[in-house]
Amino acid sequence: MPSPKDESKTAEPAARGLWFTREALLAAFRRGGCPVCQAVVSSERQSIWSFLYEGMMSPLVRQDFLNGGGFCPRHFEMAKHIEAETWQTGGIGMAILCEQLLKQSEQALLRENESKANRLQIRKRDSHPRFAAGHGCLFCRENSRKEHDLVEVLEELADEKEYAALLAKNAFCLRHGQLALEEWKIPEKKTWLQELMLRHIGELMGDLRLFIEKHDYNRRGEPLGREADVVERAARVIAGAEVAAAERGGSHHENPAHLRRAR
Ligand SMILES: [Zn+2]
Ligand SMILES: [Zn+2]
Repeated sequence: MPSPKDESKTAEPAARGLWFTREALLAAFRRGGCPVCQAVVSSERQSIWSFLYEGMMSPLVRQDFLNGGGFCPRHFEMAKHIEAETWQTGGIGMAILCEQLLKQSEQALLRENESKANRLQIRKRDSHPRFAAGHGCLFCRENSRKEHDLVEVLEELADEKEYAALLAKNAFCLRHGQLALEEWKIPEKKTWLQELMLRHIGELMGDLRLFIEKHDYNRRGEPLGREADVVERAARVIAGAEVAAAERGGSHHENPAHLRRAR
């Protein structure tokens, strides 16, 4: 898959968004499950990789990262994997970021103690938010923008037979189905999507019920049918991106091999 930089060189600005989204979406549909989750998971890997490769060298970007409490726990894990995979002789990007986050927290702790010593400051101290890893995670914010864009584009693409069939087969996860129903403008398309979502949920609930009943002691001998993997399918619809990310593990397939290097 070409990197976003290559795309900016080859595509016309007006067509770039749609062209890139089509490519990304077709690849996401091929992986199965919610296309928005799959596309977001692929693109977040690319973003983290770019951030570790060069983005973090920019003081402005790095400050934005630090102000957001660094990575959220999920993106922290992902970044560790990506760094280990990309810089096979060992990267120092994560170490530098951790050092800076700790330095920032050290200063906050010192301020906390100073205000404790001064009773008049107690009110002020209480207004300081406690540290929460990635409360404003750069990559979560980017995901949120990206999922809105994708949901909008999918409303247009749903006019095309190919995409309508792909959507009918894969459907959105609950979160992105809800987002699409909020964002889509055309009432007929909203009704179509709502029916699609309800049909998928109905099928899942039917399979879940069968799965539960077949685990009853007096039906245990019965072989499982299509309901055998229903918990996995339900997890993908309920937890969406988290499951999509876990399924793909830490590997960053879009990494251009020639850019792997020792740092
Ligand atoms: Zn989704
Ligand atoms: Zn995050």
